[in-house]
Amino acid sequence: MSAFLSDLGRSFFGDVDPAHDNGYQDPPPRKGFFTDTSVCIGCKACEVACKEWNLIPEDGLELTGDSYDNTGALGASTWRHVAFIEQEVPTRSGAHAAAPAAPVDLGMPAPTLPGQSPDAGEPADFRWLMESDVCKHCTHAACVDVCPTGALMHTEFGTVVVQSDICNGCGYCVSACPYGVIERRSGPAGDPAVGIAQKCTLCYDRLTEGQTPACAKACPTESIQFGDLDELRERAAGRLDQLVEAGEPNVQLYGHDSRNGVGGTGAFFLLLDDPEVYGLPPDPVVTTRHVGAMWRQAALAGVALLGGAVAAFAAGGRS
Ligand code: SF4
Ligand code: SF4
Repeated sequence: MSAFLSDLGRSFFGDVDPAHDNGYQDPPPRKGFFTDTSVCIGCKACEVACKEWNLIPEDGLELTGDSYDNTGALGASTWRHVAFIEQEVPTRSGAHAAAPAAPVDLGMPAPTLPGQSPDAGEPADFRWLMESDVCKHCTHAACVDVCPTGALMHTEFGTVVVQSDICNGCGYCVSACPYGVIERRSGPAGDPAVGIAQKCTLCYDRLTEGQTPACAKACPTESIQFGDLDELRERAAGRLDQLVEAGEPNVQLYGHDSRNGVGGTGAFFLLLDDPEVYGLPPDPVVTTRHVGAMWRQAALAGVALLGGAVAAFAAGGRS
């Protein structure tokens, strides 16, 4: 009942700490990922480290025909997915629309800028955008809201995990996630997790031991940065300024803003182009946003029905 009442008054806007919001007393600072895609080299060490640490089965190494992407999308057996986007001509818009597409130093570990090594040919009108995607660990997580068994929950670190032993495999969370992240495992046969909802845990078991999640630990370029969310947001804002100043025209942060449709995300990104280019929803909204209002309306309708029934009963008694 208390959960129901707190749902009625729950705010979906502004700065909310999911750990406090879920009743943890004196939780540690909220933890998260800042994924700076501008320095991702597409090595997939994050995908491999995630699989190794979390004992995730391989999900078919197939050529997707989509550049060097061989895992396709986030899913039950892909908790980190490295997207490869090939852009023929870097997009120029806004204040930099008239600027020539000169190479921009993104801070990659390379001895020279692209096209400036002595044996380089003509600079190509082409670039790769690479982005290691992951569960966003939403502040307002629809997957948590709809789970009927409480298997999905916020942890004391503000992250979102699935408790496999109490997931009943109903799949409500799969359709509720606005990012298409969570999925039930379908194989291999004999795996005890078959049928159970699966997604990144932000390596909860490592966090409880004061360790860095496996993907961030393995990333050779620090494209994936782990830490206290407030500090990561400050770091990301500085990196954004740096790239804007360097002339990168469409660089933007994605998911950091607590005023967005999911109250901000614990895993957020620096992108070099619009989210749609990376296959990310531009304006995600928590799918349970109107649940409080719906409960209120249902309660009012119930009271009205009850009142009507009592009135009819009383009128019937008089005649
Ligand atoms: S991205 Fe999807 S699965 Fe991850 S916390 Fe948000 S709603 Fe849940
Ligand atoms: S480990 Fe780092 S550099 Fe390599 S693909 Fe993942 S995010 Fe990119």
